[in-house]
Amino acid sequence: MTTPAEGSLVLGIDLGGTKILAGVVDDQHRIVGRAKESTPAREGPEALREALVSAGRDALQVAGIGPERLSAIGIGSPGPLDVDAGVIRSSPNLNVTDFPLKGTLEEAFGTPVAVQNDVRVGGYGEFKLGAGRGYRDVLAAFVGTGIGGCLIRDGRIVTGVTGNAGEIGHLIVKADGPKCGCGRKGCLEAVASRTAITRRVYKAIKKGASTPLRDVVKSKTSRLKSKELSGAYRSGDPVAVHEVDRAARFLGLALGGLMNVLGPEIIIVGGGVTEALGGPFVDLVRNAARAQAMADPDRLVRIEQAELGDDSGLLGAALIARERFVGTGEPQRT
Ligand SMILES: [Zn+2]
Repeated sequence: MTTPAEGSLVLGIDLGGTKILAGVVDDQHRIVGRAKESTPAREGPEALREALVSAGRDALQVAGIGPERLSAIGIGSPGPLDVDAGVIRSSPNLNVTDFPLKGTLEEAFGTPVAVQNDVRVGGYGEFKLGAGRGYRDVLAAFVGTGIGGCLIRDGRIVTGVTGNAGEIGHLIVKADGPKCGCGRKGCLEAVASRTAITRRVYKAIKKGASTPLRDVVKSKTSRLKSKELSGAYRSGDPVAVHEVDRAARFLGLALGGLMNVLGPEIIIVGGGVTEALGGPFVDLVRNAARAQAMADPDRLVRIEQAELGDDSGLLGAALIARERFVGTGEPQRT
């Protein structure tokens, strides 16, 4: 851990469905104090407020600073959001409606707050500070419980007229395929997310397949951790290998199609599943995408693994807040 830096400090928060990550970030984009809280996903708004404030305070404490040293706060949150008002409009995963993220944090820390969609801040973090450094046209795909995407065109996040552009998780990749959480059938998320893989592993077990995952996946809604999946995959468990290969193929199918449409300079593949499975998974995705990408005969589009891991969200959130309230966000050398 570095000592608290001179210059402006920003608090970045990544509000996820299972955990809240908070970090104090200096003007060289280094995390100088970090904290983690479990997300109170079912307890409602007051518990969520307490957890957010507590994560922020703990990060400040680790950094050895008080709230008066903060220039801004940035937070990435699941949506749908009212980004300008800084409100979570509704989130079944967090069990809140019209939750005032911005107001809550402004009141607790007395500093301006920028709110943005969690996947977008992760993508923006990777674009500016991770695998996307030096590029202008980037597509980021994050594979975890669900599948999220972030499209960056000419250096800016594309949100579209709807404000929601970039939702690659709900591209249909299998007509009349399995039902998705969004109500449609055959979405990418319904066949290639960890949730989808878990459901298929459970099916295989029910049909009598022998797999070490039998101890973890006891129902179709069991929580299979990415590490458990990657452990089984690495040990050569046929069920894990088959399902990971299949998920990577579908992800590649979607990304290859997007390569044809968008021609980005780089596609960044991240998220918990990718982190845990690492290079072999990215290779599978790359090969599957290239097989679809008829519009890229010279293989100009790079397909690379994300670099910031779990920190992409909090670093991206801090960066968005820094750019809005402090300055350009470019590191300032003294
Ligand atoms: Zn869907």
